[in-house]
Amino acid sequence: MNNLRFDNAFIRELPADLELGPRRRQVRHALFSHVTPTPVAAPTLIAHSAEVAALLGIDPASIDTPFFAEVFGGNEPVEGMQPYAANYGGHQFGHWAGQLGDGRAISLGETINAAGQRWELQLKGAGPTPYSRDADGRAVLRSSVREFLCSEAMHHLGVPTTRALSLVATGEEVVRDMFYDGNPRAEPGAVVCRVAPSFLRFGNFELPAARGDLPLLEQLVDFTIRRDFAALAAGGLRGDELRGAWFREVCERTAEMVAHWMRVGFVHGVMNTDNMSILGLTIDYGPYGWIDDYDPDWTPNTTDAQGRRYAFGRQAEIAYWNLSKLAGALAPLFADPGPLHAGLEHFIDTYGAAERRNTAAKLGLAECRDGDMELMAELQQLLHAAEVDMTLFFRHLADIDPARPSLAPLSDAFYDARKRRDATPAFDDWLARYAARLHHDPLRDEQRRDLMRSTNPRYVLRNYLAQQAIERAEKGDPGGIHELLDVLRRPYDDQPGREACARRRPDWARNRAGCSMLSCSS
Ligand code: AMP
Ligand code: MG
Repeated sequence: MNNLRFDNAFIRELPADLELGPRRRQVRHALFSHVTPTPVAAPTLIAHSAEVAALLGIDPASIDTPFFAEVFGGNEPVEGMQPYAANYGGHQFGHWAGQLGDGRAISLGETINAAGQRWELQLKGAGPTPYSRDADGRAVLRSSVREFLCSEAMHHLGVPTTRALSLVATGEEVVRDMFYDGNPRAEPGAVVCRVAPSFLRFGNFELPAARGDLPLLEQLVDFTIRRDFAALAAGGLRGDELRGAWFREVCERTAEMVAHWMRVGFVHGVMNTDNMSILGLTIDYGPYGWIDDYDPDWTPNTTDAQGRRYAFGRQAEIAYWNLSKLAGALAPLFADPGPLHAGLEHFIDTYGAAERRNTAAKLGLAECRDGDMELMAELQQLLHAAEVDMTLFFRHLADIDPARPSLAPLSDAFYDARKRRDATPAFDDWLARYAARLHHDPLRDEQRRDLMRSTNPRYVLRNYLAQQAIERAEKGDPGGIHELLDVLRRPYDDQPGREACARRRPDWARNRAGCSMLSCSS
């Protein structure tokens, strides 16, 4: 770790909170506070991502040393690290929530790797900051396992995401009331080191705007464009044009990200504007979940069970809403709001194009023609009504014989035998139309199957799989985490011997805490 090279541009170039230490407070006229991680009793490395370590240029031999766990548990700063917590606000569940900030995340600094890429290192669960409000700044093992595994799984699925370097057990307990029902219990604590070019969120821009601090907002916007959108900054645009082009790109990246979520069946669960990355990365893995039986109305987040604001099928609409809040925050910097409106329009166009691309690729078609969106919508209705597993259905759809289409290769995907029986005529009808459509498509069988198998994953981080790994880890056995990390490295490959990780959700997991129901308390 001593070879990490730091270039801490964010704290070097932007205004700091003048008070040091974690006293809880409203922080004005500053974009961050200097604060150091609170040391933990007994940091022990549970898992790490070899790919992320390599990206950062960390020597593999150093990873299994006590020093590594000390550094990434927050006990031992290395030269060049200048820890801080960022100041941001956000709209939570549709309402402005004021100042939030990094209440338990502490950035260590920005490293520059051998390829010249900037990677910020951030510890989650590293102890109190000025933004911790009435909470403890810590994270439990279960939520840390989930963040660690899902970050890496998403990356290997080809979904834009923050990454995770390490998962360190703290040797300390954390008390949580998991379902806010008056039953707090002590759980093992952990710290994840997450890694991204930047952890800036929509909320970093919204807070100075809400406070009317336009000079601060302007500094942050110009800095972000310069540091994180270098290609745009070098493009010769200036003023409103440059800022408009930047907002357009944020809209585009956000649209592409959500389209990927819809392709792989990921539900973020808490799409508050403080959980939306300005780089269009999936960020803040909390009560997220994966679609088992196809249901656009499903949300894993118990806090959202009533409103279902963040349900699977609403994610694009919510992303647009969040972008409109960002646009509102940026508007005072623009002489004319035209470029902001154009950016939002661009979201709709980009998302629409991505949805058509997804539809074609998921069905194995060379292109999305008139009628294909309807074909997909009809299939989705059938999948929903008949309680069919999204991942298994699309994966095995590649195996049907277009000359004699039948449900036989797809039987694993059904959760309910009676519903399957009832829906069989409708599925047969759909399959016949699908086979007829394939007949008019230029792709050869092999090409179609390759396209489908590189679009429709075989392995995703099913909620119950993560929960099983967590329960083993809580008993002291990290083996399940390592197995999942490994299998999820190649989600599009059939991995003989790994079938157990590709099965549909077992019945016992249907309504179980941690498997289908999660809360923000983590
Ligand atoms: P989230 O819903 O996880 O995105 O968190 C919303 C806000 O609550 C953020 O400002 C977090 O930093 C803060 N927060 C969540 N959990 C904790 C915790 N255990 N200690 C301090 N702050 C927290
Ligand atoms: Mg958050």
